[in-house]
Amino acid sequence: MNAIESKRIWLSSPHMGGTEQEYVKKAFDTNWVAPLGPNVDGFEKDLENYLDSDIHAGALSSGTASLHLGLQLLGVTRDDEVLCQSMTFSASANPIVYLGAKPVFIDSESQTWNLCPEQLEIAIKDRISKGKKPKAIVAVHLYGMPYNVDAIHKIASEYDIPVLEDSAEALGSSYHKVKCGTFGDIAILSFNGNKIITTSGGGALLSKTKEFRDKAIFLATQARDNAPHYEHSEIGHNYRMSNILAGIGRGQMEVLDAHVDKRRSNFNFYKNNLGDFSEIKFLEEPSGFYSNRWLTCIETSSNELKESIRLALAKENIESRPLWKPMHLQPVFEECDAYLNGISDDLFDRGLCLPSGSNLEEDDLFRITSVIKNILR
Ligand SMILES: *Cc1c(COP(=O)(O)O)cnc(C)c1O
Repeated sequence: MNAIESKRIWLSSPHMGGTEQEYVKKAFDTNWVAPLGPNVDGFEKDLENYLDSDIHAGALSSGTASLHLGLQLLGVTRDDEVLCQSMTFSASANPIVYLGAKPVFIDSESQTWNLCPEQLEIAIKDRISKGKKPKAIVAVHLYGMPYNVDAIHKIASEYDIPVLEDSAEALGSSYHKVKCGTFGDIAILSFNGNKIITTSGGGALLSKTKEFRDKAIFLATQARDNAPHYEHSEIGHNYRMSNILAGIGRGQMEVLDAHVDKRRSNFNFYKNNLGDFSEIKFLEEPSGFYSNRWLTCIETSSNELKESIRLALAKENIESRPLWKPMHLQPVFEECDAYLNGISDDLFDRGLCLPSGSNLEEDDLFRITSVIKNILR
């Protein structure tokens, strides 16, 4: 055993490009130390230019806040039902509850690990037959893999239900060359510390409908009516992004494409080094799908194998984590209805996320794969 502690390898840690501090310094120099200012405006423009010229972006304090406002703008209110992908991070579902509405969870398909179109349609028909048409659909591009956009949006438009596209993990991903974050009636991004780019904490609401974006900013800044004094005819939030943090975002946008390239090359490294072991499977991109490979995930042949890999990595000071535990298995959502096919249960049982940061070095990747190979041999 080496006496020197080996360097900790994280699942996905922040990775600065270099120019972030210049934008932050400028904010200090000009005293724009507030939840508005040139960096906020500039960051929104950067996002719009990157995603699609038809998109309107509003920079907010988190992805969760963006989901909360997005659902509110789609008209979700007390006692409504919202269909939500079960296999996701809890932040996709929590804002449904903030509004007093009820999540109804939908299982995944094996092709993308995202919303299963069949279960989605079964659920919609069943809820309608019970007298309650779902108010919205929360669809997630998990780990950066786009959901089945055509199939999901065809069903959504057939039943005339709006889609809130949770693109928190998928900035830089695309579906038939169209960027993720541009498909939903409203979409959201996250810039949390673990995401592909970060503002340390932050998010954005996106829409082709400018009224949605403008109303989101109105609600995010305490819903102040147009008056010299403070006048309110609606309940607001304090959800705007700080001009300091938007400065970090501006610097990060300069390296977004490089981060996507590096994360995709991490995936290829793992696949090239571990792909020959029959006990391990990788999630492939269906034709036309382009994943930012935010996290590289493996599907192992058994729960026992997944656990031995995870524990062996932990022993070597390497962080890995089981896949997102589906919401229908979470104690807090025990009472919620769910439409299930067993796929997300199985993925949770056998799936593991590997270190995937854009700041991983080749030595780190060799260290990780050699631990895994030792278990498989
Ligand atoms: C990170 C994440 C969010 C929440 O974003 P925050 O900025 O952390 O609030 C929502 N949905 C998914 C799928 C996420 O991964």
